[in-house]
Amino acid sequence: MQFTVLTLFPEMIEQGFSTSITGRAMEKGLLSLRCVNIRDYASDRYGHVDDYPYGGGAGMVMQAPPIYRAYTAAAGEGKHPRLVYVTPQGRVFDQALAKELAKEEELFILCGHYEGVDERILEEIATDRISIGDYVLTGGELPALVIMDAVARMVPGVLSNEESGEDESFMNGLLEYPQYTRPEVFMGRLVPEILKSGHHANIARWRRHESLRRTKQVRPELLETAKLDPDDQKFLQSLEMEEI
Ligand code: SAM
Repeated sequence: MQFTVLTLFPEMIEQGFSTSITGRAMEKGLLSLRCVNIRDYASDRYGHVDDYPYGGGAGMVMQAPPIYRAYTAAAGEGKHPRLVYVTPQGRVFDQALAKELAKEEELFILCGHYEGVDERILEEIATDRISIGDYVLTGGELPALVIMDAVARMVPGVLSNEESGEDESFMNGLLEYPQYTRPEVFMGRLVPEILKSGHHANIARWRRHESLRRTKQVRPELLETAKLDPDDQKFLQSLEMEEI
């Protein structure tokens, strides 16, 4: 899968993405990253890419022409790849959207800065507007990395078998169960006995129950859409009895 990021800070994206699992996947040729520095397509020789907002108000707005030139240079004349503009005004990113984006062979991401970008360039090139949550960041580079990381994990081969994402939070609509590793005792706290039993079916059931317990405590609304079998329902009912 190829990511093309239109940004004023390519080094942020390059450093973030070339580390750890995504870096290894790039070395293996499973992922590729192309950063396009919008400033290289500035309107003047001073590298200006922003201007005052029409109608007044605080801050600067990124201009449409440099972004359009950067986009056309990367996409090719007449081509319209899927392009995500990261913005607090977009659809809130989640695992389902990560899965959907992972089906693309090529994904463009546009990172805003300052007060944002001229609306007309978004009308022209953005196919999606995505937010990573209800807060405002300085720029779109961290949101782009968040989206790219979550999408990259879904690309076949990026995670090794040991790192498999199948059990992870949200993959089955629930939060993941608690994890433990050595030492067996830490500050008087023990690893749950069942995890040392070697009994795979019992361990799987315990993990499923803990996953349900945690989801009910922290994100109860997820239970409304998660696929639950009769054993799950029974366990959840027993939790409710405990509360009474
Ligand atoms: N004036 C904009 C608004 O009120 O919606 C916010 C601009 S913000 C300071 C600068 C840039 O950071 C945005 O153009 C966007 O690309 C990025 N950004 C900030 N917060 C974000 C979020 N929660 N999700 C995605 N992108 C975000």
